[in-house]
Amino acid sequence: MPPVEANVTGADPLLLGDAVGPARAGDLNTAFQEMRETLAGRGIIDVNSTMNGGGVAEMLHRLQRYSRGAGLDARWFTLRAGPDFFALTKQLHHFLHGADASGPPLDRAGAEHYAEVCQDNARALLGAIRPGDLVVLHDPQAAGLVPHLQRAGARVIWRCHVGTDDPNTYSERAWAFLRPSLETADAYVFSRKEHVPGWLAGRRVAVIPPSIDPLSAKNRPLAPSAAAAILNQVGLRAPADGDGPAIYRRDDGSVGRVRRTPTSLFSTSPPPADAPLILQVSRWDPLKDMAGVLTSFADAGSSLDGAHLALVGPDVTGVTDDPEGGRVFAECAALWHRLPDRVRTRTHLACLPMADTEENAVIVNALQRSAAVVTQKSLAEGFGLTVTEAMWKGSPVVASAVGGIRDQIEHGVHGILLDDPSDGVSFAAHASSLVGDRYLAGVLGVGARRRVRENFLDDRQLLQQTSLYRSMAGG
Ligand code: UDP
Repeated sequence: MPPVEANVTGADPLLLGDAVGPARAGDLNTAFQEMRETLAGRGIIDVNSTMNGGGVAEMLHRLQRYSRGAGLDARWFTLRAGPDFFALTKQLHHFLHGADASGPPLDRAGAEHYAEVCQDNARALLGAIRPGDLVVLHDPQAAGLVPHLQRAGARVIWRCHVGTDDPNTYSERAWAFLRPSLETADAYVFSRKEHVPGWLAGRRVAVIPPSIDPLSAKNRPLAPSAAAAILNQVGLRAPADGDGPAIYRRDDGSVGRVRRTPTSLFSTSPPPADAPLILQVSRWDPLKDMAGVLTSFADAGSSLDGAHLALVGPDVTGVTDDPEGGRVFAECAALWHRLPDRVRTRTHLACLPMADTEENAVIVNALQRSAAVVTQKSLAEGFGLTVTEAMWKGSPVVASAVGGIRDQIEHGVHGILLDDPSDGVSFAAHASSLVGDRYLAGVLGVGARRRVRENFLDDRQLLQQTSLYRSMAGG
């Protein structure tokens, strides 16, 4: 089966001026014009492994949107593969993060299967790629396509969204597996410089941290009455006076209404409208440590007594390249059942429907905006988009000081960093101090929003990308 092409509608990059100001939007527009001239009709093609769920899909959708709106021939394909392939690539993902995992071995049979799937996908893509096109292959899933697409005349960039600051035997095993495919790539992109492996010394490497689109359904302003109504609809807030209809503006300008409910919801009753909500939104991935958040909340004792906890992730059947979702969610559900009543009634697990990406996004938007504290207690992270999304909404964040999150937050200025992500006691203490001290929460929220505006909106990332792509297309 051939890779699937996404159907993304373009948007004028000057629209970003609403959030970043006309000067920044103008700079981006100029960069796009220069890039159009340099490319002279050649295409830019992104290839990853899922169109929904997770940060890469989230970002590609928005970056494609502005690239297409600027008149570039930008296209986005996702690989087609079966569960064995995705089990193997999830293992590579964990290993690149320096984490152990219980997936399939990276042995000869695994390498043969990986090579075969990548070759099939590359062959199917060849009809869509012309000599001179720039192709950006994302993460371990697409790494194996590098040599095939280069042979077809494309200039190939490999972009890696994961990594570890402290290389270990796991990360070395992953690099040993991937390196034969990656050796010849024309350029490499990482989210932080500490994630660049030593064997890439002397190659063309760019460090481009991810970013968010302030105009997407996930991040654009949402009236508190609409946010409240959306949370009522998904069972994560009890109705109260003043709630509006659960409506939002869609990308095409039409009015959308949130109608779906979670595909799974573990909750005895919705949190009262005035209860402070502690929120983590993540894929159900062991490295996001949803179970650790739940346990820390349960063990916090009276310090978080008035607060509720919501752990929210995508429908576990909705993220095709993440085979672990079902298991991790089931583990959290089992923990939830074992909680003492006084904690269980304040703890809520929800899998959000994925059928409509914009509806899913606006539910996340409403949650991040309404939360008293947003957490990201990850054990490893390339870059935490959920952290930046919450910061943009001025919500105070408690996040682990791991990977890219260290570049996103300066402790005490834009949020709280947890030195030890496994330290549940410190996590609960920070969350409770923010729930109790709304002045501190407000100060961190203001700092957080400023930080995102200056560093982590899409115009900055698009400028960095265009600069890299132009240097390659011209060279
Ligand atoms: N996300 C979502 N719906 C969900 C759960 C997650 O849209 O139910 C999004 C989240 O808002 C963020 C992305 O998935 O945009 C996750 O990106 P992040 O960088 O935090 O982690 P990744 O999944 O890439 O490891």
